[in-house]
Amino acid sequence: MQINVELLSNFGSDADVAYAAWASSGKQENRSPKDIERLLNKIIKDGHDSCLEHIVFRFRIEAPLYIIQQINRHRLASYNQASGRYGYEFNKFLDIPSDIEPLINEKDLQEYNSICQQGMDFYKNMAEKYKRHPKQKRINEVLRGALPTATMSALVMTMNLRSWINFYKQRADSHAQPEIQTVAVQMRKKIAELPEIKTIYKKLLDYGKIVP
Ligand SMILES: Cc1cc2nc3c(=O)[nH]c(=O)nc-3n(C[C@H](O)[C@H](O)[C@H](O)COP(=O)(O)OP(=O)(O)OC[C@H]3O[C@@H](n4cnc5c(N)ncnc54)[C@H](O)[C@@H]3O)c2cc1C
Repeated sequence: MQINVELLSNFGSDADVAYAAWASSGKQENRSPKDIERLLNKIIKDGHDSCLEHIVFRFRIEAPLYIIQQINRHRLASYNQASGRYGYEFNKFLDIPSDIEPLINEKDLQEYNSICQQGMDFYKNMAEKYKRHPKQKRINEVLRGALPTATMSALVMTMNLRSWINFYKQRADSHAQPEIQTVAVQMRKKIAELPEIKTIYKKLLDYGKIVP
């Protein structure tokens, strides 16, 4: 199973950011597209980043637990995550990444796959076995400890553009774990396709605030 990012919805446009910024001068009428572009250029060049908080994204991310845990460290976002108490189907784990496969021998690879599978099977069997138990949720929440951290889980994350730029800068960087780099890059590709924030996206690239 592979990492996947879906953009569920987004809010805000180039014009929304510009008009939010014009709130400070009170002069909002009759602004042309050229005015909007000029102001966006200034906002991004000078780092008036609070204006970028008017753009918001909601992503659904499928990733292993060890990456979900890293994503959760970004406090300026809202999250909801699959729960191990309520019987979410934890039955897939991340395929061993292609750069690792040639580095370890076949026996170790098999052992890794087998341990991951065993942990997930154990959790699933216990969830099934105790599904009518009056303390079923309590049993699940503790026995999920047997799940490998490579278990695929799902997270919905809502984050504004300002916070996302911080996320992207840290997590698309070559020092970050490649699997979270995948998440950051998939997010950027979705954002790059949004016509409503085309000008902002271009200015962020022009001024090196995000690096593809
Ligand atoms: C390559 C890499 C390796 C890492 N390794 C480790 C590790 O070994 N151990 C570990 O614990 N973490 C590690 N982290 C996580 C890192 O320390 C941050 O917790 C995480 O990246 C979130 O960054 P953030 O605080 O900027 O983001 P957010 O929490 O989204 O915050 C965004 C910004 O808001 C401001 N802010 C938020 N909260 C506060 C606050 N309480 N006080 C002041 N300003 C605030 C800051 O300007 C911050 O940059 C690592 C991160 C990376 C990218």
